[in-house]
Amino acid sequence: MSVLLLADHDAGVLSLATAQLVHAVAELGPIDLLVIGDDTAAIAQSASTIAGVAKVLIANGFSAADGVVNVLSTLVVRYHYVVASAGSVGKDVMPRLAAKLDLMPVTDVIKILGPTRFERPIYAGNAVQTVSDNQPRHILTLRASAFRAAAGGNTAPIEVLAGSALSLANLLTSHRTQSDTPDLATAQIVIGGGIALGSAENFQLIKNLAKKLGAAVGATRAAVDAGYAPNDWQIGQTGKIIAPDLYIAIGISGALQHLAGIQGAKKIVAINTDAEAPLVKLADIALIDDLFEIIPQLTAELDRLGVRR
Ligand SMILES: Cc1cc2nc3c(=O)[nH]c(=O)nc-3n(C[C@H](O)[C@H](O)[C@H](O)COP(=O)(O)OP(=O)(O)OC[C@H]3O[C@@H](n4cnc5c(N)ncnc54)[C@H](O)[C@@H]3O)c2cc1C
Repeated sequence: MSVLLLADHDAGVLSLATAQLVHAVAELGPIDLLVIGDDTAAIAQSASTIAGVAKVLIANGFSAADGVVNVLSTLVVRYHYVVASAGSVGKDVMPRLAAKLDLMPVTDVIKILGPTRFERPIYAGNAVQTVSDNQPRHILTLRASAFRAAAGGNTAPIEVLAGSALSLANLLTSHRTQSDTPDLATAQIVIGGGIALGSAENFQLIKNLAKKLGAAVGATRAAVDAGYAPNDWQIGQTGKIIAPDLYIAIGISGALQHLAGIQGAKKIVAINTDAEAPLVKLADIALIDDLFEIIPQLTAELDRLGVRR
């Protein structure tokens, strides 16, 4: 027995209903979650974390009901159950799919009693009907609010259905590390920025300098935790270990955990307002000054000397 579950999403965000449906149908068999729509990469990533999902399938570019029905009907042969939330999309799509497959849908399910027995409300919720569905394939819509949500923590594989080149491009883009500078772990010059930079925008000062020098950009954990720099820029004990010919540390105190990541650096330049900072004491060259004065000057000086990349 296997389940194809149509993921519920809105405005680029996976709905809670999807996790509720996954939990509801967990006993029916392995669950493949189908994400249909435009720009589905982020939704698919969230979907893959739901516990109990075996695989996430992406079909991009089909948002109208007829398109969704076409995708479902090409996949349906592989599954015993096709399930959707009893929301507006499910109500629109599933009866059409059932008609196309010449099956009777069981709608508004609030309890799954077994592989072929389902409960649903009737007479405006005044009575509960038990339906036995002995068809070879089951088309179900479920009221998500009747079920609690499945947990997270999964890393289900994501498969892009053939013909969805756009989905694949989106997916690859979402995995790509945005960097126009060399790789931190192997760069010959690394410029590290600390919390003293004060904002993500101010990290642009370091990026400009790095671009001129062909350097990689790194950061302290404090700067990463503050949201000034991405995670994969973190240097240190719990970040990346670097061994460049030259490490330029800007506004970095030199905590032990940071120093653990730069022990392989052959030369260290520190720019800091505090002459007593551990990294200043360790540095081969220290500039005791305000980074906001020094960095623009340094960049302008490199320009003057004709160092352009
Ligand atoms: C378990 C654990 C793991 C950790 N792992 C890491 C890790 O992998 N990497 C890491 O980096 N940290 C790590 N840390 C955090 C570490 O202890 C420090 O908190 C962090 O490195 C400090 O970052 P910082 O130098 O940016 O900030 P601060 O220590 O606050 O230093 C800021 C520096 O900027 C200087 N400054 C201020 N204004 C200016 C200015 N205008 N111009 C020039 N200089 C200025 C100050 O004098 C100061 O020296 C870890 C901590 C723990 C507990």
